[in-house]
Amino acid sequence: MAKRRRTDLVAFARRMCRGLEGPQFLAFIPALSLAAFWLGGEGALVSVALALPALYCALGAISRSGSVGLDRLTGLVERSEFLHALDHALATAAAEGSQTACVVLEIDDFADFGARHGDAAAEEVLRAAADRLRGALRTGDTLARIGEARFAVACAPAPRLDLEAAIQLAARLQRAVEQPVPLDATSIYMTASAGFCLAARLPGSAAEALTEAASVALAEAQAAGPAGIRAFAHGMPRRAKTGVAGAEVAAALEAGQIVAWFQPQISTETGRISGFEALARWTHPERGAVPTSEFLPALESAGLMAQLGETMLYHALTALRAWDRSGLDVPRVSVNFSAAELRDPRLPDRIAWELDRFGLDPCRLGVEVLETVIARSPEDATTRGIRALARMGCAVDLDDFGTGHASITALRRFDVSRVKIDRSLVAKCDRDPEQQRMVMAILSMSEQLGLDTLAEGVETAGEHALLAQLGCGHVQGYAIARPMPFEQTSEWIASQTARVEAAPWVGRNVG
Ligand code: C2E
Ligand code: CA
Ligand code: CA
Repeated sequence: MAKRRRTDLVAFARRMCRGLEGPQFLAFIPALSLAAFWLGGEGALVSVALALPALYCALGAISRSGSVGLDRLTGLVERSEFLHALDHALATAAAEGSQTACVVLEIDDFADFGARHGDAAAEEVLRAAADRLRGALRTGDTLARIGEARFAVACAPAPRLDLEAAIQLAARLQRAVEQPVPLDATSIYMTASAGFCLAARLPGSAAEALTEAASVALAEAQAAGPAGIRAFAHGMPRRAKTGVAGAEVAAALEAGQIVAWFQPQISTETGRISGFEALARWTHPERGAVPTSEFLPALESAGLMAQLGETMLYHALTALRAWDRSGLDVPRVSVNFSAAELRDPRLPDRIAWELDRFGLDPCRLGVEVLETVIARSPEDATTRGIRALARMGCAVDLDDFGTGHASITALRRFDVSRVKIDRSLVAKCDRDPEQQRMVMAILSMSEQLGLDTLAEGVETAGEHALLAQLGCGHVQGYAIARPMPFEQTSEWIASQTARVEAAPWVGRNVG
């Protein structure tokens, strides 16, 4: 209870801070001081002069103290705090003989909103949606942000919270989101879909199961088209798309089941290792390896990509330090960063701090950024984040190049140091002249721009040989090695070093 009160206080302080930092209020300060002087003389003026900074400091301290468990963008509680509140509502409802429910709501088609309008606009819209949803709720309800554009409500227990009341609540939340958001000279119109589950539908269930059921209902609502509402019913397909529940993958991440595996990248010129790419792997205790295509979307919708990023960075730097200590020559490890992480203004400082903690030079870390992220980012937080990392000395690799329409100016603006030619262009490049032309075009553009190149998804010796002949700098793919757990890397590094030393790499004639 005390925890929830603190959360409410922090959310209130954040809203106050946002209001007080707004231009309207700041413009009002001189008038306020003057009025104090007129009405109360010097004494009043001194009081205002002392009270205002004190108010700012107090609100700032409260809002910062609550950063754990609160969403940075909206000030809403995050998933774990939310589950805590819902469990509390369930316990109260059971004790009082009243009803509660969980509603999960998501803005429709938000995935490419940032691409169309820019990241700053996306943030603005999410903040506006959060404020409006908050305004549409009763006191006692708990609102959380549990995904990029996904919100959840834990309803305060009430005697008559039945199916009809829940539908009305979901519709009210939808209407709140549908209010236009003024942005620049235009208005942005959005719709949202909602799913909910009454606690009575799943008697004896805990918060996680109820939230999961509401998410299943949301998936049904979304499948039926924009602005749908669905109540959970037994027999609804569970997460048809991913098959992985958010709570399950969150627990796996927490339990350390998701780790980095490493795939080598080698120089086509020397055959020597130029680096490793760190790739997330989840080995489920019963199901075995779970494909990234299943668990990454689940992590993303649970809002856990930043936490994954932290884990991957930690594993990558731990591996580098271990190779260094064993005298193995690995120049760099590359880590994949999602768009959401790159938008976080604290990312560069956090990475700098981690590198420092491990005693590693920033040039040892490669930052893999998807071409689509660069192509979609106008001058905003993402741009600043990537450039800050490049300035620090990290190498920025442009991932999946050839699929995302990044402009040449974007390559310059983001201080990209290497392009990773996408697997779709590399496949069969030794046999398909069209593929070969595409690869050659990218290689010559990169050369003109002074950018290094790496071809990914190299599956055959023929592709490797052709890429080397065409002058591609580095290769990565099953033809060299599959991603492997850290424990297998030293053996692979030793055997690759032996291969290179036994038969000196004859320039670019491999295969
Ligand atoms: P990506 O960054 O393009 O990673 C390369 C993917 O291609 C990896 O799949 C890798 O296992 C696979 N691969 C490597 N060589 C070959 C090959 O020769 N042939 C074929 N067919 N595939 C090859 P994986 O590990 O399943 O990852 C898929 C995607 O998931 C990655 O694509 C990346 O976008 C994302 N991802 C993986 N780990 C992370 C992570 O830690 N953080 C983030 N944000 N994204 C990640
Ligand atoms: Ca990558
Ligand atoms: Ca890639």
